[in-house]
Amino acid sequence: MSDSVDLRKVVEQVQDFLAPRLDCYEQMIYHYLFRHTRLEGRRQITVGTRTIQARTGAGMGKKGSPPSQRVISDKLRTLERKGCIRIVERSAQGTALVVLLPHEIPGVVVEAPQVSKEDMETLDFFNDPDRRLALLRREGGHCFWCLRGITEANYSLDHVNPRSGPVEDHTYRNLVACCWECNSRKQATPAEEFLRRLYREGLLSADDHQKRVEAIEALRSGRLVPVLEDAGGASG
Ligand SMILES: [Zn+2]
Repeated sequence: MSDSVDLRKVVEQVQDFLAPRLDCYEQMIYHYLFRHTRLEGRRQITVGTRTIQARTGAGMGKKGSPPSQRVISDKLRTLERKGCIRIVERSAQGTALVVLLPHEIPGVVVEAPQVSKEDMETLDFFNDPDRRLALLRREGGHCFWCLRGITEANYSLDHVNPRSGPVEDHTYRNLVACCWECNSRKQATPAEEFLRRLYREGLLSADDHQKRVEAIEALRSGRLVPVLEDAGGASG
């Protein structure tokens, strides 16, 4: 394999980054060209507008007919203008063109900065405002303990396991967003004991209590990873 592609990544990038820039004709033609080039490990193809017309979208032209060759020819030009293909030459055999993948087209794929898994495990979520908010989002705007609604204006962060050594654990596995009342009531009470208390007091139903116990397990085992938003600010 000379030029194999990471298919999953390409499909994601085509749909997430490229498709919003293309009209439906362009998408249809791009998919066709991709299938006969990069998917097969080559970059270039020579293809006629008649072939594209016959092999792609029926029902996209007038009254449910295929798009005309003129439309396809126009769309090849706009695809080139958008950087998706590079036309090498036109001849009697058709148009020779190179197909580019989303990450090869300048300015198309804009990934949020990724925090590696290891970094995530050690990040301080207590002293950073953006990361604090990521925990509020993770909790879906509800107190982790009693499930009442909380907002940016009235939430607090609670350490699930209180400090046991010289250094407090500020990682996402030990912090939850909660209401002020739960925070001040829980103090050093172990999580399960505090949840039982809320249940006995009628602040949690049996069902909710069980789900909170499961949430604690998920938290400790690292399954409740908060999502950090791109600090650079996504466009749109
Ligand atoms: Zn609460």
